[in-house]
Amino acid sequence: MVWTQIHEPHRNEEKQVKGIYNDYFGDFGGRYVAEILRTPLDELERAWRESMDSDAYRSELQDLLVSYAGRPTPLLFAQNATRSCGGAQIFIKLEGLANTGAHKINNALGQALLAKRMGKGRIIAETGAGQHGVATAAACAKLGLKCRVYMGEIDIRRQRPNVFWMELFGAEVVPVVSGSKTLKDAINEALRDWAGSSTSTHYLIGSALGPSPYPDMVREFQSVIGREVEEEMRRLGLEVEALIACVGGGSNAIGFFAPFLGREKPRLVGVEAGGRGSGTGEHAARMGGFGTPGIVHGYKSLFLLDDDGQVGKTHSISAGLDYPGIGPQLASLGREGRIEFTRASDDESLAAVRFFASHEGLIFALESAHAGAAALEMAPEMPENRAIIVHMSGRGDKDLFILAKQLAGKGWRDFLLQEGREDEA
Ligand SMILES: *Cc1c(COP(=O)(O)O)cnc(C)c1O
Repeated sequence: MVWTQIHEPHRNEEKQVKGIYNDYFGDFGGRYVAEILRTPLDELERAWRESMDSDAYRSELQDLLVSYAGRPTPLLFAQNATRSCGGAQIFIKLEGLANTGAHKINNALGQALLAKRMGKGRIIAETGAGQHGVATAAACAKLGLKCRVYMGEIDIRRQRPNVFWMELFGAEVVPVVSGSKTLKDAINEALRDWAGSSTSTHYLIGSALGPSPYPDMVREFQSVIGREVEEEMRRLGLEVEALIACVGGGSNAIGFFAPFLGREKPRLVGVEAGGRGSGTGEHAARMGGFGTPGIVHGYKSLFLLDDDGQVGKTHSISAGLDYPGIGPQLASLGREGRIEFTRASDDESLAAVRFFASHEGLIFALESAHAGAAALEMAPEMPENRAIIVHMSGRGDKDLFILAKQLAGKGWRDFLLQEGREDEA
């Protein structure tokens, strides 16, 4: 089956509630799927809308977000970092303190609870780095749902610790051996499963992308981040100049930015993976002229495509930003200019991890460190009476092996050799 098959969906203007149910964002978005997935997507959209209006559903989700995920996450004034940079005051939204270590749990809980409400006892998900797989497996363990996670064979090898956690939570991790054996192939496999299993199964997509209603739904589940930030700003009387977030598929960024999208201020800055250069296969930046409009995985957006129009190669030191597409709403807001896009390289992101660790005692996830790197560049150029907020979308415990190899040098290599892990040393 061809999942990039084009069925131009007709736009149902009546159905749209601008800001919440969009279907399309400018030219991007939509629902480009094989016929067989139309019904489950319609059903999902109806159930999601209805659940958003249900007090019972909302209060159950709210309870889980507080007592299980650990919300609200703190907003920290990074005093040492600010002093060292000299310039704008740097605040950090510590989303990495949420259970399972990143923002992904907000969406996983929202969708898993929705699946339960729809009477679906089985969840499938795709995962690249494994972060979304871990959040999904945890949510399923908590809510008593069966869970299967599709993961590229190569990613399984690269992200062993997350495979271990998923299995510990009781999920079945299925290796995907087709195509490039990475995330994009795992998505195809999950869609294929769903086409045959949708009556009993919910497909829990991990970022603000895919066919509608996923981009809207994931944004709404992640917007809890932005609402908390907005409330803190009000409480502290904080005038904020810019919000800065890393952008893979775009779920942490759109959730963080959500309450501010319809306003002129603050500046919203998305940071993509600059990798190790601007050539094909050296980065994962889709904005700034690198991406081409295309239709992949059921939605229209900007993608890194090769000369044959196929999904192209990407690279980033952070597995979570290493995806060829960008959520349709971010692509559209980038085009309109509401969101500015910039890039941070692998090396700049590593330097940011080191900086925030030594100045603030925080371990940024490598993904989030891209936002941190951009903040370190922006802050010194702004006056001291301005504030910026960096989104620490996740904590970096998961990156131990990559970080230690890069930052600790010989001592770490000796440790790996002693443990018999020559291939990683
Ligand atoms: C998955 C992940 C990302 C990238 O995904 P988005 O959908 O762009 O947010 C960023 N940061 C962390 C910590 C992640 O786990």
